[in-house]
Amino acid sequence: MQTNTETIFSFIDNFAEQSDQLYLEATIEACEEWVAGHSTPEITGIASKEEIRRGIQLAVLKGMKKNMQPHHQMTPDSMGMLIGHIASKLSEGKHGITLLDPAVGTGNLLYTVMNAIEKDVTATAVEIDDILVRLAAITAELVEHNVTFYVQDALRPLLVDPVDISISDLPVGFYPDDANAESFELKPSEGHAYAHHLFIEQAMNHTKEGGYGIFLAPANLFDSEQSSILHPFLKKDSLIRAVLQLPDSLFKSVAHAKSIVVLQRTSSSVQVNPDVLLAKVPTMTNKQAMSLFIQKIDIWANEQ
Ligand code: SAM
Repeated sequence: MQTNTETIFSFIDNFAEQSDQLYLEATIEACEEWVAGHSTPEITGIASKEEIRRGIQLAVLKGMKKNMQPHHQMTPDSMGMLIGHIASKLSEGKHGITLLDPAVGTGNLLYTVMNAIEKDVTATAVEIDDILVRLAAITAELVEHNVTFYVQDALRPLLVDPVDISISDLPVGFYPDDANAESFELKPSEGHAYAHHLFIEQAMNHTKEGGYGIFLAPANLFDSEQSSILHPFLKKDSLIRAVLQLPDSLFKSVAHAKSIVVLQRTSSSVQVNPDVLLAKVPTMTNKQAMSLFIQKIDIWANEQ
């Protein structure tokens, strides 16, 4: 018997394979048909938010493979689940959690995190690519999450009230708009700024005092050509709470390796010199090592 995730994938896949449109466009249309109730997957019982997210994710992965677009990579579950776990631990006991994802893409990371936090969570999402926003928006309807979308360059002014937690699989590389970059402290005096630096600045500026930023960032974030401007910027209004180095095996090459970086905006109630959790994430197939690692995260999160 098929799982609900497989049923959802087959429903979208059959629709997309019969369509004349690009697979991703057809995926959006299949989801729109489903939301409108014109045609629906034959689900057993009620599909959970995670089953729906995963079913759509399988179709998006297939669509992205068919029409490779290097800048549109979806955040893999291996990383999303870990970020979701951290976000849910940091929001334990709090109500009405608000999130910001300034580079939401397909929404896969955002919904993984919202599903992990489970209840009482709303989000604001920004994305420059209109197809990805349509995909993320229709998925939000299906997984029934309350998300406000903005289709714009996230490094332009954002109409967002400060949030509890900002999350982002940061776009990595140079930001070409030097004139706009001038409004950021992380613009170097010469040459293009790093987009991933500007995204961190923008996200932290829209995070409440005491709130967190959880970023999937290049592993050399604190040790790059422009890190000399990042360090003083972070010292001013934020604290580095954790740097979790992901296994190299998850990436095409060591040069593409990433870490999960947790920052906290300072406030009068946040400790000035907290312990920083510096750890290497074990190979994810090593269940025992992974379970010990999660325990370590939980102990750290309980101390926040
Ligand atoms: N977390 C996303 C997901 O699960 O699908 C993947 C994010 S992907 C690594 C980075 C995203 O940032 C891409 O979708 C890209 O279009 C978007 N992006 C890049 N530059 C941007 C900008 N200046 N403003 C808004 N979005 C941008």
